[in-house]
Amino acid sequence: MDSLTLQLTAFDAVRMLWAMAFGACVGSLINVLAYRIPRGLDFVTPQSRCPSCSTKLTWRENIPIFGWLLLGGRCRFCRSPISAEYPIVETIVAVLWGAAYMACYSDPSTPLHGLFSWAEPEWARSGFVQTWPIFLVIVTLLSSLVAMTLVDARTFTIPPVLTNVPTVVALLVHPIYAVIVQMKDGRLIATAPGYSWSIWTPDKFGWWWVGAGVGGAVGFVVANLLLRFGVLKRSFEDYAAWEAKTLAEIEAKQGAAGAAGAGEAATARVGPAAGLSDQADAQGADAASVAASASDDRVNGEQAAAPTEQEMWVQYPHARREMARELLFVGVIAAFAVGAAYLALRLAGPWAMNVNTLRLEPTSDVVVPLWLQVTSGAFLGYLIGGGVVWAIRILGTLAFGKEALGLGDVHMMAAVGACLGWIDPTLAFFGAAFLGMAGWAIQYFSSGENKRMLPYGPFLAMATIVVWFGKPVIERAAGWALGGPVNWP
Ligand SMILES: [Zn+2]
Repeated sequence: MDSLTLQLTAFDAVRMLWAMAFGACVGSLINVLAYRIPRGLDFVTPQSRCPSCSTKLTWRENIPIFGWLLLGGRCRFCRSPISAEYPIVETIVAVLWGAAYMACYSDPSTPLHGLFSWAEPEWARSGFVQTWPIFLVIVTLLSSLVAMTLVDARTFTIPPVLTNVPTVVALLVHPIYAVIVQMKDGRLIATAPGYSWSIWTPDKFGWWWVGAGVGGAVGFVVANLLLRFGVLKRSFEDYAAWEAKTLAEIEAKQGAAGAAGAGEAATARVGPAAGLSDQADAQGADAASVAASASDDRVNGEQAAAPTEQEMWVQYPHARREMARELLFVGVIAAFAVGAAYLALRLAGPWAMNVNTLRLEPTSDVVVPLWLQVTSGAFLGYLIGGGVVWAIRILGTLAFGKEALGLGDVHMMAAVGACLGWIDPTLAFFGAAFLGMAGWAIQYFSSGENKRMLPYGPFLAMATIVVWFGKPVIERAAGWALGGPVNWP
């Protein structure tokens, strides 16, 4: 290695460490959010404290990763252990930032580049100075996905704030940055063939796509307004009332069983426990089957524990009915998207076949400005990314009679679509199914039970991260498998 290459490599390594340091700090913030959001705590003002004795952490102990190492994983004051999850999460986010930075911007003339070049997105060749806003969108998304994974794994819910942050960042940064680029030189210097931006966008004659994206976004706002003013009803609105009533019935039954002879109760319980899976699958399950499934892990004759929130949730008997409400909501958005696409098609026409490209193009020759292409691309990403998950949720729930996939998963993949365009969340959604099956299999063969539900969010998040880093490889593999021309330099 000559001295110039050595210098460039050192420079690359230093920039990677900077990216990792930023990532570790964001990881530290994610730890705070993942701890405080599910507990409903304020996540801005209070300083970090030991959860056992409330001793405040000094600035040195607050340093990501190293603070924990410095303390040896124990509180300085009361010596109670501090979870290793904190430094682990900080390390994961730091590695994601470092890897994303190197995938995008490592210097091609250094050996470090070889480690990351397989994941290099085309647009990043325009350089950091040109494209840092896109990088900001990506690291915001990757970090948010880690936060969503942590909270979803614990609570089976994804708080809206975690999906809203990347969505808002993407819907602001993509269009604003597109306006700036358009004023300067018209488009990104380097993009993949057929692309004018880092995400999929309608091409310069793609007026119907613009109509669908903008129309869908307007439909989204309208549908939410209709929800707010009570014209459309929220799904699962009566869930809390149903849950309270069912839990009260279970309590009453258990009280009665407790009053009966202990031996009698023990034999009586063999029946429902054995018929558990049939009962749990039956439509219209009542309090008895909730109690039966909740008492599955109970030792003979002991009093049953109250069913957990997740066990209650899968027993809710009206999941199919609730899908009608969700179909109405989605229908409003789809109607606006289709209507506006048609309108745009009419307004931009008349259309004629371009003999060179074999594509229909409007003869009026009014092209879609870059900022509108990019805005539509982000809108369509949001709508399609969320729409794919929502469609499977509605179909799955209608098929199985219990909620399949959460609305949190819908919001998550919509956010991914806003940041990365519609292709990534669609690939990731189907990729996550394989990861999910693998996770389920591991759980099944290690513990011998498949009753406990797995949250799907972590699999979606993992699949999204894999798809983002692997997309250049995936595109090349797809081109090779389809036997088509691989337009990759
Ligand atoms: Zn302490």
